[in-house]
Amino acid sequence: MKRIYSSHDLIGVHHARNLLDAAGIPAVVRNDLLSSAMGELPPVECQAEVWVLDDAQVAHAERILREGRLPSAQEMGSWRCTGCGETLEAQFTQCWRCGATRAADASIRR
Ligand SMILES: [Zn+2]
Repeated sequence: MKRIYSSHDLIGVHHARNLLDAAGIPAVVRNDLLSSAMGELPPVECQAEVWVLDDAQVAHAERILREGRLPSAQEMGSWRCTGCGETLEAQFTQCWRCGATRAADASIRR
């Protein structure tokens, strides 16, 4: 397990995690609630972080984040349900499988 990204920008952090998720790389966001404590804690400890669970996928994950996009054209125009992981077409705002609505930070690729 390795931290590959950290930022005060929660949207950016969740976008990074979404990119990894869509690429099939298990990752988690840590400290995403701590940012609200900014001003009370040293800033570096308030940064939200993205951790890749599998060390073997770290290099791949870093490349995806560096490029800021998925290499595959397969998911063009689609978004990934945060509830169940289903891939949905861009025109849908709700998941047909689990009923979750599209999260504000869902990554939309065009
Ligand atoms: Zn769903």
